[in-house]
Amino acid sequence: MSDSQTSSPFGRQFENLVAVVTGGASGIGLATADMLAAGGATVVALDLNPEVASPLIGVRCDVSDDASVRQAISEVVERTGGIDIVVNNAGIGAQGDVADNDDDEWSAVFGVNVFGMVRVARAALPHLRESDHAVIVNTGSVAGAVGLPQRALYSATKGAVHALTRAMAADHVDDGIRVNAVSPGTADTPWIGRLLSTAPDPAAERAALNARQPIGRLVAPDEVAAAICYLASPGAASTTGTILDVDGGLVPLRTRPRS
Ligand code: NAD
Repeated sequence: MSDSQTSSPFGRQFENLVAVVTGGASGIGLATADMLAAGGATVVALDLNPEVASPLIGVRCDVSDDASVRQAISEVVERTGGIDIVVNNAGIGAQGDVADNDDDEWSAVFGVNVFGMVRVARAALPHLRESDHAVIVNTGSVAGAVGLPQRALYSATKGAVHALTRAMAADHVDDGIRVNAVSPGTADTPWIGRLLSTAPDPAAERAALNARQPIGRLVAPDEVAAAICYLASPGAASTTGTILDVDGGLVPLRTRPRS
């Protein structure tokens, strides 16, 4: 059992709440699921590969498939009685400039990163409306806020996530459902591990990614999880429509290069 499963920076704020976390079996999603569970939530990880350790509950779900999402949300409600917190976090990457990915690739990446959030939110909304503590937190990215090279498609999806977050927050404020997002910088997850393993010089690539961060290192998954949990917590009841940077200063700061 990890530290985050035994103690929580949020005390027991999530007691009696049910959370679903898409992409909850790896990286940022798993760190978030563990932290919510440590805070007392019943947590269901919805993932293509839902192998998670107790107390997390794993349910297979492909967010790119509406029938799969509806089935998974029904299963969650059958098992837990409702849904209070949705963390829309499942995402996939794409590399290249605007000409490098064909239409199928554009559809596939939008199908997970943006339409996946739409499908999960759409299926969960009736249950969220029944909750006294309803909140959705979406995982955006610095790629949605600044221009990064060779990330045209991925950046377009994350810009859409940021815009969708604000629009959903406006639509559902009268339903009592808060909607926020986090915008992580490069985070040290299995995703980045896979990316580095395909680089010609993984150590040099990691050093370049560290150097791009004003704090000089990659963001830790637990740091993103803590931001998601804050936005999801009852203590953040006045926060909606916010996109919280967790990026080591990448977007807001203009620092001088280290010598
Ligand atoms: P990860 O690859 O470690 O985990 C992603 C999880 O999503 C995996 O468990 C995978 O099985 C699941 N998943 C993928 N496609 C799915 C689908 N169709 N249906 C259900 N589950 C699916 O990645 P991560 O680094 O933890 O990234 C999580 C989120 O954070 C993504 O939205 C990503 O865009 C975002 N993000 C990551 C970074 C980073 O540097 N790692 C930076 C900014 C934003």
